[in-house]
Amino acid sequence: ELDVDALRAWILDVPNFPSAGVLFRDVTPMLADAEAFGRCIDALAAPWQDAGVEAVCGIESRGFIFGAALARRLEVGFVPLRKPGKLPPPLVEVEYALEYGRDRLQARSGILDGGLRTLIVDDVLATGGTLAAAHELVTRLGGLTVGAGVVIELSALGGRARWPRELPLRALLDY
Ligand code: 5GP
Repeated sequence: ELDVDALRAWILDVPNFPSAGVLFRDVTPMLADAEAFGRCIDALAAPWQDAGVEAVCGIESRGFIFGAALARRLEVGFVPLRKPGKLPPPLVEVEYALEYGRDRLQARSGILDGGLRTLIVDDVLATGGTLAAAHELVTRLGGLTVGAGVVIELSALGGRARWPRELPLRALLDY
C-alpha cells in the first residue's frame, strides 16, 4: 500500500501560476491516478473515523472533489460551500479577505441546522483565510465544526494560526 508521503509524486509544482512569483501545487495528476486518489481519500478519512462526523462541507472548487469522495467514505452527506452567484436563495454568506481583494462563500440557509457535526475539507491550506471563513459559514448555517482536513498545508504561509486552536486541523502533506 502507498505511503501517504508517496502521494507527493503525483503533485506537480507549477512556478508563476496563477500569477508571477506564486508556486502552485497542482493536485490534478493525483486525482487522475486511481491508486493515489484512493489512498488520499483513505488518509483524509482516517482521523475522523470515530469523530461522529454527520456532514462534510467542501470548499469550491477542488474541495468539492475531495469533500464529496470523503463524505461517501464516511457515509455522510455533502454540502458545497460555493462562490457567489451559483446557488439559489435562501442563502447565508461570509465575506473574507484574500491576498488581493475580498471573496465570499455561500450555502443554503439552515442546511446544517440542529448543530450537525461538520468536517470542512479543502485541497490546500495557504494563508488560512478561506478555511477560517468556511468555519464561520458552518456556524451561521447552524452546524458545529468538528475539524478540518486538507491535502496540502503550505506551512510557511502560517495559515494554521487563523484556524481556531481548539479545533483539529489535519493535513496529509506539509510543503
Ligand atoms: P488561503 O485562503 O488559505 O490563502 O487559500 C486557500 C485556497 O486557495 C484554497 O481554496 C486552495 O484551493 C487555493 N490555493 C491556494 N494556493 C494553492 C495552491 O498552491 N494549489 C492549489 N491547488 N490551490 C491553492
